Amino acid sequence: MNLDQYIRDIPDFPKPGILFKDIMPLLADPKAFRHSIKLLAEIYKTRKIDAIAAAEARGFLFAAPLALELEKPLVPLRKPGKLPYRTYSLKYELEYGSAELQMHTDGIQIHDRVLLIDDVLATGGTMKAGASLIEQAGGVVDSCAFLIELTFLQGRQKLQGYEVFSLLKY
Ligand code: IMP
Repeated sequence: MNLDQYIRDIPDFPKPGILFKDIMPLLADPKAFRHSIKLLAEIYKTRKIDAIAAAEARGFLFAAPLALELEKPLVPLRKPGKLPYRTYSLKYELEYGSAELQMHTDGIQIHDRVLLIDDVLATGGTMKAGASLIEQAGGVVDSCAFLIELTFLQGRQKLQGYEVFSLLKY
């Protein structure tokens, strides 16, 4: 199955000049959605992974079914003020301004090997922040996996030192 046909290009979203990759057609097709999760599960089922983490919001859409498929704990990384228990927090810079991600202090155990998931790798800033947060909590980043990689934005450079995998490259 060619997953590319389930990714829709939206010109000028969210700003003029940006060609947004819309994953909603993939989510709308259970066979294609399941296939994307199966492909990721095939790759990571043989690795020693203790937990799967993802940043809100679209990362959750892939991390949750993958966590079920691989029978691993799911660790949500969230924007400030969303998590009810004690948190670790990490601020990071965006193109314009800054952002912050948080996770529960008991989200992972020390030395846990964590697989990080997101829908799209663009500049890599979000994933880098997620990886740093996992390390702050004492975990080890096993790998970073994406449905889509926008290669021209060179997000891999920001993720140097981490193993990076993507199902689709543009
Ligand atoms: P980065 O931090 O620049 O790598 O941006 C990645 C984040 O922005 C991911 O969490 C994506 O959900 C979102 N993102 C960036 N570009 C796109 C796109 O073209 N389609 C969907 N999401 C995108």
